[in-house]
Amino acid sequence: MTIDRYAVIGNPVAHSKSPIIHAAFAKATGQELSYERLLAPRDGFASTVERFVAEGGKGLNVTIPFKLEAFALARKRSGRAESAGACNTLAWRGDHWYGDNTDGAGLLRDLTHNLGETIGGRNVLVFGAGGAVHGILQPLLAHGPRRIVLANRTHARAVELAAHFTAEGPVVAIEPRSLAGERFDIVINATSIGLDTPVPRDLWPNGLFAPGALAYDLVYANQTTPFVRWAKEQGAARTADGLGMLIEQAAESFFLWRGVRPDTACAFPLLRPKDS
Ligand code: NAP
Repeated sequence: MTIDRYAVIGNPVAHSKSPIIHAAFAKATGQELSYERLLAPRDGFASTVERFVAEGGKGLNVTIPFKLEAFALARKRSGRAESAGACNTLAWRGDHWYGDNTDGAGLLRDLTHNLGETIGGRNVLVFGAGGAVHGILQPLLAHGPRRIVLANRTHARAVELAAHFTAEGPVVAIEPRSLAGERFDIVINATSIGLDTPVPRDLWPNGLFAPGALAYDLVYANQTTPFVRWAKEQGAARTADGLGMLIEQAAESFFLWRGVRPDTACAFPLLRPKDS
């Protein structure tokens, strides 16, 4: 019997934690499968995917920089992938790829289930207007926030994105410097200032956190991220990084591929050892 093959495809991809997560899910659910890292040349996404299918590949997680190409490759797509305009998950359906986007569901599951956060009626600030924000806006709006403010270094991108989603709920774009005096219950960093780039203090005003506010960084690490450090200095009552989102979006992909929803609790200790 051949074992179903899955992989995370990206460039770079060596850092990806997805193989660890999916191996844990497979073990916990008793599913027999293999999951690997697939490095595709920057100009060779489609050909790498084609080869993977020819060799028995059944599903892919897609990471930087291929989420838009994955969207284009998918002949059928979920509503959330259509809304995001990008796919982070592909499932082989015998003669075509089905594309999904599980990033938003992963974030919402982490916020509401793991962190016990309420979105309904809350004032939410999102820094950034890139691919990740495309994926998280619709699920955030579906939870009924009072208002979502998009603040991006390149303001025009935030304006365009807000306009795209305005029919789905209260979302506006505000230039980061013009946020001075505003207070938010949830502040999400969806910029690509990862671990090595400092928070743009000249751009982001002080005093944005309402009492009890949560600061959530899409970036994850076994160390305090620059955004989380800044948020704590600014008085954020609670902070979280994006490890929970990563694990929860993986669980959504696993469910799409295998029809079984893993209990994500098995993956957290593997990626965040207690003494880290
Ligand atoms: P992206 O499409 O490249 O967008 C990057 C965003 O960051 C843009 O809005 C950009 O602003 C902004 N930015 C970059 N450098 C900045 C700086 N120095 N100061 C202020 N803003 C800056 O990236 P993405 O795909 O949206 O990903 C964003 C982050 O989310 C990445 O770190 C990614 O790893 C993370 N992510 C995590 C998960 C998870 O499961 N935890 C899932 C998806 C993504 P401009 O428009 O001005 O260039």
